[in-house]
Amino acid sequence: MGETQMKNIEADVVVIGAGGAGIPAALSAVENGAESVIVLEKRKTVGGNAVFANGIFACESLIQRRAMIDAPKDEIYKKAMAWHRYSSRINPRILRAYINKSGDTISWLMKRGIEFEIGAQWRLNYHQNPCWHVIKGHTPLGRFAPVVKSLTDECREKGVQILLETTGEKVLRGSEGEVVGVIAVQDGQKFEIKTKSVIITTGGFMGNKELLNKFFPFYDESFGGLVVPHEGDGIQLAAEAGGALDDVATLVREHGLTFTKDHSLGQAARQPNAIWVNKKGQRFLDEASAEQSQICSNAIIRQPGKVAYAVYDEQMIEEVMEKGWFLPHAPIRPIPSDLKEILQNEVANGGEVKISDNWDEIARWIGAEPNVLKATITEYNSFCDHGYDEDFVKERRFLAPLCKAPYYVIKFGVLLIETIGPVRINHNMEIIDKNDDPIPGLYAAGVLSGGWLSDDYCGEYLFGSALSYSVNSGRIAGENASLYIKEK
Ligand SMILES: Cc1cc2nc3c(=O)[nH]c(=O)nc-3n(C[C@H](O)[C@H](O)[C@H](O)COP(=O)(O)OP(=O)(O)OC[C@H]3O[C@@H](n4cnc5c(N)ncnc54)[C@H](O)[C@@H]3O)c2cc1C
Repeated sequence: MGETQMKNIEADVVVIGAGGAGIPAALSAVENGAESVIVLEKRKTVGGNAVFANGIFACESLIQRRAMIDAPKDEIYKKAMAWHRYSSRINPRILRAYINKSGDTISWLMKRGIEFEIGAQWRLNYHQNPCWHVIKGHTPLGRFAPVVKSLTDECREKGVQILLETTGEKVLRGSEGEVVGVIAVQDGQKFEIKTKSVIITTGGFMGNKELLNKFFPFYDESFGGLVVPHEGDGIQLAAEAGGALDDVATLVREHGLTFTKDHSLGQAARQPNAIWVNKKGQRFLDEASAEQSQICSNAIIRQPGKVAYAVYDEQMIEEVMEKGWFLPHAPIRPIPSDLKEILQNEVANGGEVKISDNWDEIARWIGAEPNVLKATITEYNSFCDHGYDEDFVKERRFLAPLCKAPYYVIKFGVLLIETIGPVRINHNMEIIDKNDDPIPGLYAAGVLSGGWLSDDYCGEYLFGSALSYSVNSGRIAGENASLYIKEK
């Protein structure tokens, strides 16, 4: 980009970050009257983490209505608020604005020819089975990457300029505090874009250890992360422009096999009939609660070294190979017929799996006292014999003794999916300052902004909400930004 060209850049709205929130924000801004929109994207391609996603949460959508799925927004909102216990981290208006918009967003996508997969399992009433498979229910054909492509193509057709490999570096404010421009960097060259409105949508900060340590007191560098490790640029962009930050953000996490080479083994740790022990060789939870992965990651975080070991006997492994993985709410049980081979390969390749007939050897591998591990197994087997888990009341149907050697042990830990927050906004997606007053012309959307989740991801009622919130908040920010410039 040449010097002269740089001086002339001007736009009604500048969006910083072309991912799950940024692309919908740009499109909404144009749809709602912004005449010129520029999107800055730091990487070579658009999409951010949104290209990896499967589906999005929505309620009262056309798809749900057609499939006779009862997913009332008022009730889901109230349940989600109760789930979050009116946490001080939650702004109920933000959650409400997002949930209210979600059904309309499905129509907004369908108008663009996007089709959604909907199977027989969706035809349940969520009152009978309030599980995420039912409530989420909106998986575009081909998952989300084609959606990103389609919305990006439309942006370009409508004249949105998408500048790739261009980093948004600073938001400029005028004498009355209003947004007046953005400093961006391309090919090492800085340039200014004059604008009245900026939407920051730079995603999370999983790639920034300093920020992870700062915003999560329990963060540990042993946690594994997924895919695109964003650096959290938007936090500094917002803070430098006067935006307030929450002290703590939300870490969306699961338990997962962060230590084995074959991540397809992730499901192994979730089998309710296995037992989980910590480094001391002690059980620490009802393993059948593993379906709710956030709960399990919380339990693992409390263990020494923040790791856990799933233990199976030969019979359990054979049962999985015969009947498939147990997935509580899924209609099918995928069968990993080569499971034993996968586990043996892990051992051969130095992965974090142990197979042995000998509990002393297993205990030494874990780092536990052999007597402690053996006592755990003996006690658990006696619970199975009596049909009652005295320690954690695991459901009787999942109580199976570990008695047929060899025993299989898989080490696993916490897997980070996404960070949420800590930029403070209001329900119009305006970034607010320390006095809770909006900064004129400055918006944030997507996972950079908090206030719609408390400490944990509300998987029960809003599964698929990281991306769903991003798309919906992006749309709301785009609408409000164009309204703002019309009024200016
Ligand atoms: C493997 C995987 C699967 C997932 N599956 C699901 C799912 O099924 N359902 C669901 O709801 N969620 C899912 N998520 C989470 C979801 O994809 C994200 O939460 C969502 O994409 C966040 O949207 P965003 O716009 O905030 O950030 P992103 O989509 O990550 O986009 C941020 C963009 O900003 C750019 N950027 C950063 N800094 C700058 C800067 N300074 N200047 C310019 N550009 C910048 C980045 O390069 C990136 O393109 C998944 C995530 C992963 C990793």
